[in-house]
Amino acid sequence: MRRVCVFAGSSIGGRSDYAEAARALGTELARHELGLVYGGSSSGLMGAVADAALEAGGEVIGVMPRGLFRREVAHLGLTELREVGSMHERKALMAELADGFIALPGGYGTFDELFEMVTWAQIGIAEKPVGLLDVASYFAPLLAMVEHAAQEGFVPASHVALLMREADPAILLKRLVAYAPPLREQGTWLPHP
Ligand code: AMP
Repeated sequence: MRRVCVFAGSSIGGRSDYAEAARALGTELARHELGLVYGGSSSGLMGAVADAALEAGGEVIGVMPRGLFRREVAHLGLTELREVGSMHERKALMAELADGFIALPGGYGTFDELFEMVTWAQIGIAEKPVGLLDVASYFAPLLAMVEHAAQEGFVPASHVALLMREADPAILLKRLVAYAPPLREQGTWLPHP
């Protein structure tokens, strides 16, 4: 594993725990010589994870859609800032550059990016690991919804585990690095009985 893509809130959130965890993750990535790929913003938890990785000497690549966000939002101190034509191109490039994904607390943007990657993992387009850094149990309601979807027959039970949940960034990174995708028949996924 060379790089990890982090999806994270463009806001800082309502507790200091969130920014602390974002910084801890950025530091841990650099310590393991894992590059960070992310949305390229200097704001919120996105800025916090990038700043910490840079301060610890890590590689940080931002991927920003041209013209969509205010120019001053872009982080100017990154190793590299890649500009793309649309949000779709951005997600595709982030997915290509990274070998695994981690979501920090965030809002709709974070949920969208996270679930696209889990969907890709589920259908075998990209079998890269997906983790949640579960700060202050932020993701408990989201995981309860996933469990509910499994109980109601919409998510195969074996796919619930595609989302790896840890509260400690070092443990989460260890699990990402050790990840082996589930076996499946080529080109298909197993339908729920
Ligand atoms: P949200 O969780 O709604 O704050 O959205 C955060 C996610 O959406 C990030 O992982 C980004 O890729 C993208 N995003 C949302 N707002 C911005 C912004 N102002 N600058 C760059 N990316 C953003």
